[in-house]
Amino acid sequence: MQQFLKGLPKVELHAHLNGSLGIESLRDLGERLYGSTSHKLLELSALRFQKNLDACFESFKFIHELTSTAEGLRFATELAVRDFAQDNVQYVELRTTPKENENYSRRDYLQIVIDAIEKAKEKYPDTLVKLLPSINRTEPVAVAEETVSLAVELAQSRSDLIVGIDLSGNPAHGKFSDFAPILARAREKGLKLAIHCAEIDNPSEVKEMLQFGMSRCGHGTFLSPEDIVLLKQRNIPIECCLTSNVKSGTVPNLEEHHLKRIMEADAPKVISTDDSGIFDTTLTQEFLLAAETFGLTHKQCIELTLEAVNHSFASDQEQKEMAERVAKYASTLQI
Ligand SMILES: [Zn+2]
Repeated sequence: MQQFLKGLPKVELHAHLNGSLGIESLRDLGERLYGSTSHKLLELSALRFQKNLDACFESFKFIHELTSTAEGLRFATELAVRDFAQDNVQYVELRTTPKENENYSRRDYLQIVIDAIEKAKEKYPDTLVKLLPSINRTEPVAVAEETVSLAVELAQSRSDLIVGIDLSGNPAHGKFSDFAPILARAREKGLKLAIHCAEIDNPSEVKEMLQFGMSRCGHGTFLSPEDIVLLKQRNIPIECCLTSNVKSGTVPNLEEHHLKRIMEADAPKVISTDDSGIFDTTLTQEFLLAAETFGLTHKQCIELTLEAVNHSFASDQEQKEMAERVAKYASTLQI
């Protein structure tokens, strides 16, 4: 099964750029920025290149430090694409919150990421990359307004690359209603919306979000059975990130993951990594966990991948080509 999943031309729809760098890539990035024998790298390595959960969360801080320069951000973006390409991911939508500091503005940030994706395209031509600028709900509304304005403006010339907006950040902070008008503006301008929804148990906010609408629902951990039926009626997929949910503690264990309920309800779903680097996983590994835990067959894994193709924000032609790659792979294995 693992070999089959590794070879499958997979589709990743829920990946945060900064969290998607694997341990090796983090080391490469640190070496490039600080030099392989620098005191700084040794210090960071000793602290953070350990595979345990505390170290995982520590690495968020570390990654922010590594990507706080234009060079670091550019190289990190390329490495994130490399990691997905190495896992045979044929399509990935990267999400990232534009940041500003003494080295770059939010506009620069997005431009650096766009340029890096372009460069990565030459190195990893089999992996198609799209970008979703993120709104971090813990930041002020004015920042979200700037992010959406930049996304709308840049999408005018790069509608092939900037395809949507993500709403994320600590779900215990910020009010969805404060961000709804900004998200509505993005939607009016043709951007799709991928919204982190029901990550924590907050039924009134889930109701607001579902009334507002979205193209895809991130996590959906605390959706009620009625909510799942509603999403099914509206053909809105739930982006299920198994390892992320278990390691971050919103789901007690894999067996109790809501993917089971979603499959039983025959509602739309996709399997995603969320932060593959932070949670030390890959999309292959996430499929394997889903297959082992819920008894998925090869055929079901193919179907899940085709479901992800259909719910991607890629163009019709791109979706057609992705589906063909999956079909070709399945036919060579006679699945
Ligand atoms: Zn996420």
